[in-house]
Amino acid sequence: MIEINNVTKIYGKKKNLFTALDDVSFQIPEGASVAIIGKSGSGKSTLMHTISGLDHPTKGEIIVDGKNTLRLKPKQMDQFRSTEMSFIFQSFFVQGSETCFNNVSLPLEIAGVPFKNRRHKVEVALEAVELLDKKRSRAKDLSGGQKQRLAIARAIVNQPKILFADEPTGNLDSATGEVVENLLFSYNKKNGTTLIIVTHDADLAAKCDMQVRMKDGRIERIAGGAK
Ligand code: ADP
Repeated sequence: MIEINNVTKIYGKKKNLFTALDDVSFQIPEGASVAIIGKSGSGKSTLMHTISGLDHPTKGEIIVDGKNTLRLKPKQMDQFRSTEMSFIFQSFFVQGSETCFNNVSLPLEIAGVPFKNRRHKVEVALEAVELLDKKRSRAKDLSGGQKQRLAIARAIVNQPKILFADEPTGNLDSATGEVVENLLFSYNKKNGTTLIIVTHDADLAAKCDMQVRMKDGRIERIAGGAK
């Protein structure tokens, strides 16, 4: 369960203050899929960054599995994030000159998983996105859809509890986007991983258990919510 309690985020200083999030509260049940929707500038990314601890709210609290993440020291938060959370972005962010295997292995290296334990985990993740046959290929030689599948493999290799996806299909054509969506939802259902998607895509949002619509930094409407 993720609890977002009275979260306000104000950017800027003195005369130049801008309230990007204004007293936002809601809860995300464990294992739910949630779409954060709304116009550009409505606060979607800021909300995602505060939930994941990448950004610190000005007021309010974020409780993840009973842990008040804002009370964690920066190092503890980094550790918490690297073991519990993963991210997928619109623009893939894979290392082009590295092999698919090395791209997926990277989070395990960062988490200090010994080499002998990495291979199996990397292969399981590549298999899950149907890229095992490409493990020795360089990421730059993949198509857009394959790059995003590789980004998903890299995001799931450490079995996160929460998967954040920022416009994950924004750079893909609709058929390829659907393959990526299906992978995300099947992973969410199979593993009970909470999936939080920032999107403009109404069809993608409708497939989520819960939709949180943002407007001018406030929640305009929440739909769904019960699993
Ligand atoms: P969305 O993801 O819905 O497009 P954002 O959360 O990125 O919206 O931004 C919400 C508002 O906060 C926007 O008006 C944006 O200009 C402002 N904003 C975001 N980040 C910063 C920042 N670092 N400094 C100042 N204003 C910011």
